[in-house]
Amino acid sequence: MKAPISEIFSSIQGEGILIGRRQIFVRFSGCNLDCIYCDTLDSKDKDHGNLLSPANVVNKINELVTPDLHSISFTGGEPTLYPEFINEVIHRVNLKTKIKTLLETNGSIYKQINLLNNIDYASIDIKLPEHFNEWNLDIFESELKSVEILVEKRVKVYCKIVVLPSTKINDVEEVVIKLSKRVSNNNVPLIIQPSSPINHWKGKEKKILKFSEICGKYMDVLTIPQVHKCLGVD
Ligand code: SF4
Repeated sequence: MKAPISEIFSSIQGEGILIGRRQIFVRFSGCNLDCIYCDTLDSKDKDHGNLLSPANVVNKINELVTPDLHSISFTGGEPTLYPEFINEVIHRVNLKTKIKTLLETNGSIYKQINLLNNIDYASIDIKLPEHFNEWNLDIFESELKSVEILVEKRVKVYCKIVVLPSTKINDVEEVVIKLSKRVSNNNVPLIIQPSSPINHWKGKEKKILKFSEICGKYMDVLTIPQVHKCLGVD
């Protein structure tokens, strides 16, 4: 079994509820979506990665372990294109020491998410219609099903919405109302992530507060930009 991997590296998690945690990132190549704000353009194309086996990945992970390591992040591209591969990597890592795992996914392929085992945390991107040239309700419905499946599997799930300076407050509210109805009582926080670079928000800081206020009507909300970019790390 092999999967296209664009990079494996150690860094600081700069997004979501694990912000500040030292992680080893396993970045898969290939993605089924085409978001306008994508910051991993190289890994969108599966031909960009090197074909590696689970043993290759585990060897690299072992080389990168540091005393402050918190977890392994499976990211992309879209990691849920390769569920059996991820299961095998986690199985092999766990034979030595149990390390926590984070899945960073667009959530749009819920049937694949159902195949994953032993995930501790999951970050699910909730996409807005403006994030695509072509958006459809199937993507949104699959994201919601992915959240439900992971909650059912007792994974600590959080949702993330990337907002741009041009994002309409009403569009975010409409999506968050629907999302909150599906995740109510499940302790799923919502991260509002202002898009990078953060200096594009100069003069629009009040809009960031407004997003938080609107989302806070329906969900537990945190506003967090991509901190790893402020630190100048990957
Ligand atoms: S889902 Fe993620 S990796 Fe795929 S195109 Fe969108 S931002 Fe890029």
